[in-house]
Amino acid sequence: MTRRNFLNQTALGVLTATTASIGRSAEPNATKGEMPLIVSTWGFGKAANEAALKVLLGHGSLLDAVEQGIWVTESAGDGSVGLSGGSNAAGVVQLDACIMNGPDHKAGSVAGLEGIRHPISAARRVMEKTRHVMLVGEGARMFALEEGLESVEVNSRERYEQWQKQRAAARAKPAEKKPEGHDTLALLVLGADGNIAGGCSTSGLGGKLPGRVGDSPILGSGLYVDNEVGAAGATGLGENVMRYCSAFLIVEFMRQGMAPHEACMEAIRRTIKAEPKGANLSINFVALDKKGRYGAAGTDRGFAYSVTTPSSSRVLPNPANGKLDR
Ligand code: ASP
Repeated sequence: MTRRNFLNQTALGVLTATTASIGRSAEPNATKGEMPLIVSTWGFGKAANEAALKVLLGHGSLLDAVEQGIWVTESAGDGSVGLSGGSNAAGVVQLDACIMNGPDHKAGSVAGLEGIRHPISAARRVMEKTRHVMLVGEGARMFALEEGLESVEVNSRERYEQWQKQRAAARAKPAEKKPEGHDTLALLVLGADGNIAGGCSTSGLGGKLPGRVGDSPILGSGLYVDNEVGAAGATGLGENVMRYCSAFLIVEFMRQGMAPHEACMEAIRRTIKAEPKGANLSINFVALDKKGRYGAAGTDRGFAYSVTTPSSSRVLPNPANGKLDR
């Protein structure tokens, strides 16, 4: 079941909780783990992880593993990541992605990118071929086209004109509830040599305002890699991740000695404590550390994550399930 389906089916998709109810949950993989190790968000991350592992086992680079793993999900056409993803309020799919490389601490990012099949490749090229870290909108598209990345026609002008007409018509009527599906692939890779890289790709929040950018392409929010410590990635409601720099926070918690799962839980506790909405936040995290340990935690009951090593590839349930219940 994809997350979007899950949210539709439950109509809630989020838990309500008090900070006090968030216990210390059992910590998966608390000892040193097997490498290479690939951890990603959601069940759909498993196929991406396996593609990334294949690259590593074929002696490909960490960045190739991240990029080619994410290609799988961007091409899957499942309505969440890539061009098949949810469109914004004007009916246009605007994609966000980023990539970060541990060994040299370089990063690249694109946001509000239209009509490019693999935004993760655009992000990688920003990192490798420009002196910048982030490109947005039309500039990002022009750069991706110049780089020869696979593209489709965008008829955004037509769509925006149509949207303006719709908005004018809607003003005359009572407001309707807009669709708000969202999903992100955040994929973290720890190589056999102990180096770390990660990437993130999403179509963002369905029905978002044109130009809205979520957490996914924002370094330190939707993704962060520190080669001395570990990496973390996020999925959920970007507005609730960006305001707390969650991926950076999780990596810093790991630096202080927390294992990945505990670090994800602590980021959730920290956020919930500060939020009047309590745990009704839709924030979900994955993390791995330099020792090969991994973990995850999320406020969405249906959140799952994928873990792949040479000896196994599994989809695991949200370890915070039940622990965030009242
Ligand atoms: N975090 C993404 C965003 O807010 C969406 C998601 O992960 O579902 O753009």
